[in-house]
Amino acid sequence: AIEIQSLVKTFGENEVLKGIDLTVMPGEVVCVIGPSGSGKSTLLRSVNLLEEPTGGRILIEGIDVTDPETDIDRVRTRIGMVFQGFNLFPHLDVLGNLTVAQRRVKKRSKAEAEKIGHEMLERVGLAHKADAYPGHLSGGQQQRVAIARALCMKPDMMLFDEPTSALDPELVGEVLQVMRDLADEGMTMLVVTHEMGFAREVGSRLIFMDGGHIVEDGDPREVLGNPQHQRTQDFLSRVL
Ligand code: ATP
Ligand code: MG
Repeated sequence: AIEIQSLVKTFGENEVLKGIDLTVMPGEVVCVIGPSGSGKSTLLRSVNLLEEPTGGRILIEGIDVTDPETDIDRVRTRIGMVFQGFNLFPHLDVLGNLTVAQRRVKKRSKAEAEKIGHEMLERVGLAHKADAYPGHLSGGQQQRVAIARALCMKPDMMLFDEPTSALDPELVGEVLQVMRDLADEGMTMLVVTHEMGFAREVGSRLIFMDGGHIVEDGDPREVLGNPQHQRTQDFLSRVL
């Protein structure tokens, strides 16, 4: 589970997260929506300590990542992260992209890393692209490679920060399908997204953030269909 307790994050004078409480249980898919600047990315990045919390606690499988005694690199290997940009190494082919971290971080042999790489490529429907270079792939294919790369580390949970926002509209569906498959297989997922259809159909819960607060947290159909707060209503009326 991911347990976020009273999380506060400030950048200088700017308090970006103002006391976030959020628990993501194993197998849950929690989607996060909210206006630009509301703190969604900061929240996600705090989970694996890409941002250091100013206050509060974050527990990953019961381990307090904010405790200076915790080996954060070890915890990080259990958390896969996929961003808006794909951040693939352009000079490595797809299989190379999938094996670098496995070999460096997990100390797997070349053969084992490549075997797992092929398995994960299969999972995202790109078994035939192992030898391709990122520059020769579509944005949707690159993002699926990025997901496969994260899966190669065999994470317990996945964080997605607007994984389809940089894609041409016709490529969004193939990435969402891979994420849907992952959800069906029981992956624990925290997903910042503008894809309301995905949130409604795949999300276990939907969270609306505004101004560094969680304003609403509930069943996606309820939050989208019957928002309880004016701020949620205003936001949804702008995006739906
Ligand atoms: P978007 O929808 O545009 O991605 P967001 O909800 O993800 O927005 P964040 O990126 O979390 O918002 O940013 C929240 C606030 O924190 C913004 O005011 C932003 O300027 C500020 N911020 C984020 N990262 C930093 C940083 N490294 N240094 C200073 N301020 C930052
Ligand atoms: Mg963001």
